[in-house]
Amino acid sequence: MTSHVEQVIAARIAAAKAKAAADKLRREELAENRRHGLKARYRAKGRRTGKRLGFCASCARPLTRGTYLLCSKGCGARLCRGHPRCAQQHNPQCANAPRAFTDSPQEAS
Ligand SMILES: [Zn+2]
Ligand SMILES: [Zn+2]
Repeated sequence: MTSHVEQVIAARIAAAKAKAAADKLRREELAENRRHGLKARYRAKGRRTGKRLGFCASCARPLTRGTYLLCSKGCGARLCRGHPRCAQQHNPQCANAPRAFTDSPQEAS
């Protein structure tokens, strides 16, 4: 038969274990939040102070690493990532865009 003291000690140990587990979980949560926050801050800072790699071919916004996409037609133009309109605007002006007409239609016939 377990004594009253032993029961109290067992209960205290269980409570301490539960608290330790809860603390650990909370620390992990906080660390995770911090990691996310830092990542977001690094990204924002990179955008703000990052090396400028060029300008959008359509809206002339300054572009840094990871903020642009190259023209899908391979003309080398950089276009804002996250602004699909920039690519749409660029496509008809693209040097590599297929043309339905030639420079001198008279010659062709
Ligand atoms: Zn743009
Ligand atoms: Zn292009």
